[in-house]
Amino acid sequence: MLCKDCKSGYHAPYDRFERLGVKADGPSFLMKCRQCGALWNETPRAATRVHKADAQTLYPEARF
Ligand SMILES: [Zn+2]
Repeated sequence: MLCKDCKSGYHAPYDRFERLGVKADGPSFLMKCRQCGALWNETPRAATRVHKADAQTLYPEARF
């Protein structure tokens, strides 16, 4: 279940997110919501929700 903040998208308050992984060539960031556990892939253009399996593929070094 998404929290109400994640339901409406990737937006402030950003302190609800924990950074789990970084890809330097994006740069992109794997972010996890502390409230509901949703995973987001943040790029310079946009942030999209990702499933855990995809996040593990994108960020093999991230710890979940
Ligand atoms: Zn959330």
